[in-house]
Amino acid sequence: MQAVWMFFLQMETSSDGRQKITKLYNPKLKINEERTLKIRSVLGKFEIDNIGKNNGVCKNCYSCVERVIRMEKELERLKCDINATRRAVLAKS
Ligand SMILES: [Zn+2]
Repeated sequence: MQAVWMFFLQMETSSDGRQKITKLYNPKLKINEERTLKIRSVLGKFEIDNIGKNNGVCKNCYSCVERVIRMEKELERLKCDINATRRAVLAKS
């Protein structure tokens, strides 16, 4: 997987008033056709800003999108299984 590493600073002030700067690296995945389609299938509307050079999708959020798709497939499979079982029961009676 191709990842674009975005980087930003987080500033925290501790209880004694001292400031602490933490560098955070937020892994982002490049937006491509396949990822765009998957995100749209879950979120519906998903516009891409082609101007932004650091265009990307957060790795964590994208894996949530993939999880939703996996779970939806699993749900469909379960529904088919139940229907198949029901048809078998009906056929016997
Ligand atoms: Zn995210």
